[in-house]
Amino acid sequence: MSECIFCKIVAGQIPCAKVYEDDHVLAFLDINPLMPGHTLLITKKHAETIFDLSAEEAAACGAALPKVASAVFKAMGAEGMNILQNNYEISGQEIFHVHFHLMPRKTGDGFKVPWPAK
Ligand code: 5GP
Ligand code: ZN
Repeated sequence: MSECIFCKIVAGQIPCAKVYEDDHVLAFLDINPLMPGHTLLITKKHAETIFDLSAEEAAACGAALPKVASAVFKAMGAEGMNILQNNYEISGQEIFHVHFHLMPRKTGDGFKVPWPAK
């Protein structure tokens, strides 16, 4: 059996607060959110990084991302949104199952984007 935490979430062996699901992807709230509404969108099929996605999975992520991001944005009454995706340890990846961070932003939320002059 896979030891991957996100595979266990897909299999229903670990609970999650589900935001969206289709045949290829699952979105759920981050267990340690950096701000309210911090959501993770993952592929249902295990792939370590974005470089390991099949064309079909990549297309499914591409189709789901704007839909889910928009739903989270509206539900949170956000003013903006960061979408972040880490690959390999040096980038900050801790869970080696591909995922996108959807991070709704509000004035005064205290989040510092990893970007110069922000
Ligand atoms: P990474 O650093 O790999 O880009 O992000 C991994 C994210 O997964 C972190 O934000 C962390 O809080 C989240 N996470 C880790 N384990 C769990 C879990 O069991 N459930 C949920 N919902 N999120 C998790
Ligand atoms: Zn996995």
